[in-house]
Amino acid sequence: MSDRRIQALREVVHESYAIFDTVLDELDLDPPIACKSGCIHCCYNQVALTEPEALVLGLHLLETRDSKRLDDLSAKTEALVGSLNGKSWQDIGMARHRLPCLFLENGNCSVYPARPWACRGWNSVDVNMCLESNLSENALTLIENHPVTRLVADSLQKGVLRGASDLGLEAGYLLMSRAVSLLLEGGAEKGVRNCMEDWLLGRPFFARKKSW
Ligand code: SF4
Repeated sequence: MSDRRIQALREVVHESYAIFDTVLDELDLDPPIACKSGCIHCCYNQVALTEPEALVLGLHLLETRDSKRLDDLSAKTEALVGSLNGKSWQDIGMARHRLPCLFLENGNCSVYPARPWACRGWNSVDVNMCLESNLSENALTLIENHPVTRLVADSLQKGVLRGASDLGLEAGYLLMSRAVSLLLEGGAEKGVRNCMEDWLLGRPFFARKKSW
């Protein structure tokens, strides 16, 4: 696998994240976005991502964590994925308040620069709605969010996915915890490399495991 292809993938994903940040800076939203640094209500959730996002997240983990932290993450991931086994996305969504994100650590996102589109595009207009949802643990609580930021994030994500599909690469969505489980399989270094190689050669990455 050539480093050039990995570099190209990284650049495409980082550039699309940067475009989103620029658009967000230029938007004059009314009401303003309620999300603030350190606010983690929406991180009691299992978000989904695409293959390019997952692979760039895998590279980020390799570059920012030592082997002990990667082993700890692997154990945490397997415990979480085991608890999700056999559950549909709907079941998981309904239980989301009891399923904090894998990367929520000490009240913060521990992979903030590499967080996926789902996290970037979803922005509440009222923190009280988020709070009420978490306190009631009712996944059906209405939380009003900004459609424009979601639309921009969705469009950029779909553009990257469409590009992958046009190149004959697997293009889809998977829960992030399940994707991280695939990335760390057999050890982080080897796992990320295998997933990267397979995906860039048009072989399955998310589809390498057929059932969860
Ligand atoms: S990746 Fe980060 S921002 Fe996204 S849900 Fe997890 S902790 Fe929250």
